[in-house]
Amino acid sequence: MPLKTPQQVLEIITSIAVREPVKTPVWLWDAAGHVLAQDVTTARDIPPFNRAAMDGYAVRSADVDNVPVTLDVIAVREAGDTSPVSIAPGQCVKIMTGAAVPDDADAVVMIEKTKSHNPAKKTTILEPVKPFTDIARQGEDAPAGSIVLHKGQLLTGPSLSVAAGVGQTMLEVYQHPLVSLLQTGGELVEPGDNATGNKIYNSNATLLTGLINDTRISRSRYLGILKDDRSALANAIHTGLTGDVLILTGGVSKGDFDYVPEVLQNCGVTIHIHGAAIKPGKPLLFGGTLDGRFVFGLPGNPVSVMICFYEFVLPFLRRLNGMSGSPAPAGTNAVLTAPIHKKSGRQFYCSAYLFYQSNRLFAQPISGHGSGDYVSTARANGVAIIPADITAIAAGQEVLVHPWQVPMQESEEPK
Ligand code: AMP
Ligand code: MG
Repeated sequence: MPLKTPQQVLEIITSIAVREPVKTPVWLWDAAGHVLAQDVTTARDIPPFNRAAMDGYAVRSADVDNVPVTLDVIAVREAGDTSPVSIAPGQCVKIMTGAAVPDDADAVVMIEKTKSHNPAKKTTILEPVKPFTDIARQGEDAPAGSIVLHKGQLLTGPSLSVAAGVGQTMLEVYQHPLVSLLQTGGELVEPGDNATGNKIYNSNATLLTGLINDTRISRSRYLGILKDDRSALANAIHTGLTGDVLILTGGVSKGDFDYVPEVLQNCGVTIHIHGAAIKPGKPLLFGGTLDGRFVFGLPGNPVSVMICFYEFVLPFLRRLNGMSGSPAPAGTNAVLTAPIHKKSGRQFYCSAYLFYQSNRLFAQPISGHGSGDYVSTARANGVAIIPADITAIAAGQEVLVHPWQVPMQESEEPK
């Protein structure tokens, strides 16, 4: 299979992840991180009544054309008051933010532009107001019957406040895909057990569990470590394929014990991608079954896992989860703080610490020791992307970056 370009990889995985995700109702309070499977409409106008936007006095604006003018205060209205009140010429109502403006009034004069009297039966208005000053008009934010949240939207605090604001308690969302994790390699030992000699601790399971939890659009299930053994691998793959997505790490390259591609095929997986012109992550594997389960095989090196996750697995999960918009990683330009050199041929993903200084975005390449160096790479909050045919980018030049988190402002270049 010829190496796929990163663009081809993205096209293949996002065009395959087109099945309609499973819908499920979820309680408003548990809905954060889910993608809406329905449009949400409002039954009432928002705001539902002409609402005072300031503490002050509800007036007839024609009464306050010539100021100062003293008006009779005939009532006090607080938010939630429903008692009717009518205002005749020369009268006003003291009103609090959030209260309904009486029908005869067409403006609110903020308290700071009035002079109070003692007793408070009168007030003097010091500045004229135009009609509808400091009134949030009924229906101006969203008229009754209009859509306030759209299918495909990721639910966050602000969007859930809209759902709450129209009185919804249950929302139809897409069920989070279940991602099974399987780590292969005879050298692996779980943290908590004792890694001695040439054994190493399994760090990829924790890495992927954390990354998947961070997505907030999928849930993970850890299936454990497997030695490079065909029949044990086949059993575990069958279990993994009972979920929506299986991510294997290790065993997908060209080594003598890299059985994953062969065993996947024996388990009914069609391999769509095996090998991409990227560094790290060249052995990347992606396949699917006839009944709509998907498999990623990632090379075991922790940095490859991280890069492949953000560049390909995450866009796939976004698409699988019914999220609207482009699932591809969003890019922007940043100024390189140190040069990057590479060979021609594969697109290089250089993990980087991205930071702002005086509102300019900088990318500090993480100069670790290759794709096995998870210690240095844990500092990365994004990646700089060096196209296949480019061999060097100098410090001070702009480079395309994909931020993984929102970069921080730094007063000097971080150590
Ligand atoms: P492989 O893709 O199986 O050839 O593994 C590539 C490198 O990644 C080897 O040095 C492995 O020891 C290492 N590696 C594989 N799986 C893991 C893991 N789960 N945690 C940490 N390192 C791993
Ligand atoms: Mg291995």
